[in-house]
Amino acid sequence: MTRDELIKWHINYRMLNSSSPGMSEEGYRWMVLHGNPSDEELERQKTVLEEQEAQWRKSPPKTCSICGEKYYGWGNNAWPVNEGRCCNECNSDSVIPARLRGVQGPMIPDKSKRRKGGK
Ligand SMILES: [Zn+2]
Repeated sequence: MTRDELIKWHINYRMLNSSSPGMSEEGYRWMVLHGNPSDEELERQKTVLEEQEAQWRKSPPKTCSICGEKYYGWGNNAWPVNEGRCCNECNSDSVIPARLRGVQGPMIPDKSKRRKGGK
């Protein structure tokens, strides 16, 4: 893959998996190229992301706590809509607007309540 193709791949991947809807392609390009990664680094990140995706495909789907639909992958923190996790659609349609409006509590969740166990 040429560097251009690699960069395109990363931009595409981010656009498909983004939790920041509405960001322009230029924005993603900036994110991908931020820190001026080498070709090897872009290649390495691509491998990591592809492996991650292969893992998601193998793991059973989870149920979105907002719409009840199944989704694959990490999902998104549904706060402040509810305490669970949600699909990408609900994240961009409900959760992010709710956060932007600041409907419940502070904009920044209490970190002490998050990430129990694990890394
Ligand atoms: Zn959903």
